[in-house]
Amino acid sequence: RAKESGRRTVRFFDPDLDRRLRDRFALQLDLRSALDRKELLLYYQPQAKIDGRVFGFEALARWNHPTRGMVPPTEFITLAEQNGTIVEIGAWALREACREAASWREPLQISVNLSPIQFRYGDLASLVHLALLDTGLSPDRLELEITEGVIFDDPSRALSVLRRLKSLGVKIAMDDFGTGYASMSSLQSFPFDKIKIDRSFVSSIETNAQSAVIVRSIIGLGEALRIPVIAEGVETEAERSILWQEGCTEIQGFLVGHPMPISAYVGIVDGDGSNHHAAQAG
Ligand code: C2E
Ligand code: MG
Ligand code: MG
Ligand code: MG
Repeated sequence: RAKESGRRTVRFFDPDLDRRLRDRFALQLDLRSALDRKELLLYYQPQAKIDGRVFGFEALARWNHPTRGMVPPTEFITLAEQNGTIVEIGAWALREACREAASWREPLQISVNLSPIQFRYGDLASLVHLALLDTGLSPDRLELEITEGVIFDDPSRALSVLRRLKSLGVKIAMDDFGTGYASMSSLQSFPFDKIKIDRSFVSSIETNAQSAVIVRSIIGLGEALRIPVIAEGVETEAERSILWQEGCTEIQGFLVGHPMPISAYVGIVDGDGSNHHAAQAG
């Protein structure tokens, strides 16, 4: 470490950093062919009303790397954004999720994450329009999740693209709310249909008084602006019960279900009456 070797010393070569960079570079190269090799797949995590009734799923990308095994999206989405492959991966995820949802017997909602890079390059509204047309998915069943970065990058472009998306009849959700740059006023200036409370606030709701206050404020904000609020990362009954008391109407998290291949949820999407997962009313 440069710090340990003294203030005046400058280290020109850091073997640790070098290895990490090489590793990232190798992964980035692999990523370019991952789609062609069909190594990418989607997991699905249920989203439920506060009483546990599942109303939809979020599609979450996974990379089944031939030698590294399952690489989590937290590791490869950033790489994909850096080398531009996110444009292709994002288009694939959108289409794949729409195709999957269109095959369900139950008309549940499907949520798909969009990267800020997808707003910068290419014609996102046309891409979504085509995915809907080609898969036959009804637009009102599709929700697109965006992060605050989309707005931060280029607010006026974001607004025009979001308006075009809205005119297709799809819904827009603000993901990870409370963690980034977006202010409260962005909820008013942009056409959001849902606010997703970031999981960091939910997971510390019992132990951190500030988190509890933040969660309460976001729920209040949603009520005032008439935008439904969903809490992410709900893992325990205790968390759900607090959220319920605070007036939160929707939850997503391990309590309801982990992200899994859709086959794990076939009972829900094909409507065999088992649509009451981990969380039960009462
Ligand atoms: P996100 O959109 O905020 O997704 C929620 C993340 O929280 C998921 O992580 C999910 O597995 C995790 N999670 C859900 N419930 C719980 C819980 O109760 N406890 C804990 N500890 N974690 C929970 P995942 O699947 O690793 O995805 C991470 C992020 O990668 C996503 O965050 C999203 O920003 C990004 N991502 C995933 N798939 C895509 C994609 O297709 N396109 C883009 N652009 N981004 C994606
Ligand atoms: Mg999301
Ligand atoms: Mg999130
Ligand atoms: Mg996130």
